[in-house]
Amino acid sequence: MNDRTPPLPDIPLEVFRQAVEQAALAISITDADARILYCNPAFQQVTGYAPAEVAGRNESVLSYKVTPGLVYETMWARLLRQRPWNGMLVNRRRDGSRYLADLTITPVLDAGGRTSHYLGMHRDVTEVHRLERQVQNQKQLIESVIEAAPVAIAVLDEAERVTLDNQEYRRLAAGSGLAATLLAALRADAGLDGRGFAGREVQQELEDGRTRWLACSGAWIEEQDGSADAFYVPLRRRYLLLAIQDITALKAQQEAIRVNALRAVLAEQARIQDLREALSGAVYRLQTPFHMLAAALRMLERQAGSAADPLAASLAEALAQGSAALEALRASVPSQSEEGVGPVDLNGLLKDLLRLLTPRLLAGGITVDWRPGALPPVSGRPTRLATLFKALLENAIEAVHDGRDERREIRLATAADPDWVEVVIQDSGPGIPPEWRYKVFEPFFTSKGARSQHIGMGLSVAQDVVTGHGGLLELGEAAGGGCRARVQLPVD
Ligand code: FAD
Repeated sequence: MNDRTPPLPDIPLEVFRQAVEQAALAISITDADARILYCNPAFQQVTGYAPAEVAGRNESVLSYKVTPGLVYETMWARLLRQRPWNGMLVNRRRDGSRYLADLTITPVLDAGGRTSHYLGMHRDVTEVHRLERQVQNQKQLIESVIEAAPVAIAVLDEAERVTLDNQEYRRLAAGSGLAATLLAALRADAGLDGRGFAGREVQQELEDGRTRWLACSGAWIEEQDGSADAFYVPLRRRYLLLAIQDITALKAQQEAIRVNALRAVLAEQARIQDLREALSGAVYRLQTPFHMLAAALRMLERQAGSAADPLAASLAEALAQGSAALEALRASVPSQSEEGVGPVDLNGLLKDLLRLLTPRLLAGGITVDWRPGALPPVSGRPTRLATLFKALLENAIEAVHDGRDERREIRLATAADPDWVEVVIQDSGPGIPPEWRYKVFEPFFTSKGARSQHIGMGLSVAQDVVTGHGGLLELGEAAGGGCRARVQLPVD
């Protein structure tokens, strides 16, 4: 207070008395030995004791003996040093019920500086305490459930700092900023729009070279700021609850199932294709002697003129029967089963094919340089496309075997532009001589001679599949030698 501050006006003593009388706090005044001299109506309300019932009695009348002696000793130690004391006591009301008292005791000193009285003020804070405990219990319960959850959980603040996590999260994160990495990957993938998300899968390359798949779900939670500033003007804070599950094993299982299904479908396709090739080959090869027979018959008929020649007749008969048999053979060539058109993930398909061919690649000591680009889905027939790329990859494997190059390598890359999706397969084999670049697409052409089991349908079938998809198949020379097969498929 400085000199210019006007002095507070004197208040009549009666006002002080009434203020204490009417206060909502339980107030008592004792002598220096804690014997009650005065208590206000709020005291009666809280304790159940009327002033006449406690007058002259020690405040210990309220004591319920569970409050540890140390609390009283500390309290008295302070009071004896003429210092105020505040603390919690378990009190017993007149009716025997207990309550928690938040008590402040202030020594009242006389003119000589001695403690003449004590002023006691207390509130029943049982309910506040019960609520606090309840919140604490709930918090503890939630924290233990979160801690023990088999799913990794992290709560992130607006700056994406982890404010709460559990054992599983710490195990997965292993000291790295896992949550931030995942959020960056999710953002780069399909964005985060401030709403919750579920089951988003993120692929993670680990330091030890392993690939891990994590499924992430996120939910935003809002919390009201507990500061005094935000008491009347609520201030909300947003947190992201991130739940992460390691689905690597599940993914591997799904991949194995998918690759096995692909293997079965391709084996069935190959069986049908082999049958088609064998029968078509037989039909193709039988056609030549038939043409020769037909020519011979025509010659005989011309020589014999109009006279009936029994040789020509039996030749005509044999030719007719042979043609009928050839037709029957042609009709028995199994037709290509019609497959529905749908969106195909070419990178996924090529990856599955590489998995399928891994034993052959390993056995041949062939390394694969696999560079998938970002591709839109292509609309196509999945099994036909799988047959196409399997044929091209198998050709590449065989070419590497045939090659003399020390490098035993297949390079596989995909790329996209607005209209096309491109797959390029390059091998380190001997390559295809320029004069064969177009011939290799002819049915029954083979560059491998009679020793080969192939009768040369692979590339013609591949060409059929590409044409059927409105695309282009082109063979050329790979950088550094070898063959380069380039497939372009249109994007819708
Ligand atoms: P005690 O054995 O009497 O005391 C426990 C310990 O406290 C003793 O070992 C001693 O170290 C110390 N002690 C007790 N009395 C004195 C004293 N006069 N001088 C120095 N040391 C002492 N207690 C409650 O339980 N509830 C209340 O609401 C409450 N309100 C109080 C309000 C005022 C204004 C004052 C002055 C005291 C109040 N007390 C209250 C304390 C009360 O007076 C007793 O000290 C307390 O209840 C313990 O009493 P007890 O008989 O259980 O144990």
